[in-house]
Order: sequence, then C-alpha cells, then structure tokens
Amino acid sequence: MIDPLVSDEQLVKLRSLLDAANKIVLTCHVSPDGDAMGSLTALMHVLKRQNKTVHAVTPNLFPDFLNWLPGADEILVYEKNEEAVAPVLKEADLFVCLDFNSLTRLSMLEEPVRSNPAPKVVIDHHLHPDETADCVISFPEMSSTCELLYRVLVALYGDSYINYDEAVSLYTGMMTDTGAFTYNSTRSDIYYIIGKLLEKGIDKDKIYRNVFYEYSEDRFRLMGYMLYVKMEVMREYNAVILSLDREEQKRFSHKKGDTEGFVNLPLQIHGTKLSILLRENTEQDNIRVSLRSVDDFPCNQMAAEFFHGGGHLNASGGTLECTLDEAIEIAHRAIKKYAPLLK
Ligand code: 5GP
Ligand code: MN
Repeated sequence: MIDPLVSDEQLVKLRSLLDAANKIVLTCHVSPDGDAMGSLTALMHVLKRQNKTVHAVTPNLFPDFLNWLPGADEILVYEKNEEAVAPVLKEADLFVCLDFNSLTRLSMLEEPVRSNPAPKVVIDHHLHPDETADCVISFPEMSSTCELLYRVLVALYGDSYINYDEAVSLYTGMMTDTGAFTYNSTRSDIYYIIGKLLEKGIDKDKIYRNVFYEYSEDRFRLMGYMLYVKMEVMREYNAVILSLDREEQKRFSHKKGDTEGFVNLPLQIHGTKLSILLRENTEQDNIRVSLRSVDDFPCNQMAAEFFHGGGHLNASGGTLECTLDEAIEIAHRAIKKYAPLLK
C-alpha cells in the first residue's frame, strides 16, 4: 500500500467538500505544464464519473504537445474566451486548485476565482502554500502534483477506481515534472506508483514520445540556434545563461511551450550547476525567467531575490519588467552574488 500522506482529518474535510459540491471548477497555474494539465484532466475524469458538473479551466493556452491528453479538448481556456468562461466561474460551488500554491499564480484568472466565495481546495507540491484555502493538501516533497493526486485518489476511492485515462494523465504529470525521471525522482514510491499505473494498461513509451518526440522542425532548429548562438557559459561560476528576444521567436515561428525544457539542456555541460533562460514574453511586455540547478543550489532563493519569482529548489521561475539586455545584466549580478554556492 502506498502512504496516502494526507491525514484522516484532511481526508474527511476533502470528502465532505467534494460531496457537498455540484458545480466544481478545477484550475491550475498560468502557462500550464504537464503536471498542471495531468492533474487537471485526471481529476476532471474522476469527478465527472461521479455525475458532478465539472469544468477544468486554465488561465491561458496550454502547449500543443499536451493536446492529446484525454480530456484536453474539454478544457476551457479563460484568456481565449473570458465571456463564456466567466459564468462558469461565478456559478462554481467548489474550486480545486492544482499544482500552484497561491492564487496569484492564476494570473488573469485570479480575480474571478478570488471573488467567488465558494470553498477552495489546494492540492499541490510547491513550497509555502497559501493557507487561506479551506482544505490545503500540500506536500513539497512530492515530485509532482500528479504523484500527490494519485495518493489522494487512492485514499479516497482505492487504486481500483482509477481508470486508464486517469492513469495516462497522472503518469504524464509525474514524467514531465521530473524530466522523464532524471531529476527529483529517486524515491522508490514513485516507481511503485508507476507500476500501479502500468497495470491500468498505459503505454509509457508512447506517452514519452507524445510529449518529447513531437517537435516542429522550427522548434528543433530554435533549440540548435539557442545552444550555438545564444548560450553564454560563465565557466568560473559553473553557470550558463540562455536568452531569446521577440524577433528570434518570430523567426522560428515560436509557439507557446516551444522553449519548454531548453533551460535544462546546459546542465548537461560538465560541472554546470545553474542554468538561467531569459525570454522576451510575446504575450506581455516583460521577461520570463526560468532557472534550473543541480544538487543543493537554491534556484528558488535566487528567483525570489533577483527575479520576483520562486519555485522549487532545483526549478524556479520569475518575471522581470525590463529589457532583455537589462535582464541579462541582472542575471550576471545574481550569478556573481551566488558565486560561493556555485563552487
Ligand atoms: P518554469 O521555468 O517551468 O516556468 O517554472 C519552473 C517552476 O518555477 C514552476 O514549476 C513554478 O514552481 C516556479 N515558478 C515559475 N514562475 C514563477 C513565478 O513567476 N513565481 C513563482 N513564485 N514561481 C514560479
Ligand atoms: Mn508541478
């Protein structure tokens, strides 16, 4: 048996909130990743099977490489259709917040969710959860929200309740949040859960290909361009900076999610402890920052101190309101300040 982690008290609370609700809205953080989308679609299927009215709502578009997920076609994208989605948010009598720790991570969806007084459940694995929610199931030691959600679902309904589609979604989130089990993934529990999901008939090799072998030619060339032309290796600091401006994104027909994972690549260079990717946002006038590290280098601390962000120890992000050149300067300053931890 897998440790459910959730206390009996939390479970009773969660069960009573779910039982009492009829119009449930599930949501996740802005710019959804595989874990956000996996947990969203898995829970959507489970609750729909219980004859609840369930809507899964993302703040903005999710990347194409996740559009094959079972139920992805039913997801409402708030940014794309605010007028149609607003009534759904107004009428909700329960919100389940998946894969984020604070309503601010909902971005454009924050206000409509916050203004509805309906109870809120958080199921998440980020540090420092917003404790004002009515039921907070937060375990930062989990590799993914999907891993945590599997445990919660087993505690609520038993493993046999979870079906094939749900298993596909849960596996996808576990896989993407660990870089296909190459980081943050050394606990044996993870593989126990994978074993249970495989018993549902999922094809994990196919899921891997659906996510990682579906790149457009443009995206693949952009990756090569960034590594060859746009990578600054700061050898004495064991750090690397990648940057990308708007014009370059246009040149390579950049679509949402196209740079996903690029920030991890420089960590393959011998000795590299930190990789920072700076990208001019094509949707808003700011710079999106991604940070990745190995071992105990605290990306989240650097993200909070220099990039108005946060995240996990080895994977964080943030936003800067400045030009790309200024952002590169800030990244230099951050790296120099953290030099002792990069040795
Ligand atoms: P990514 O680099 O994939 O955008 O983000 C990596 C991780 O950093 C996310 O899973 C999330 O935990 C965190 N993160 C990204 N952007 C932000 C942000 O703007 N604020 C905070 N607090 N965390 C972020
Ligand atoms: Mn996650």
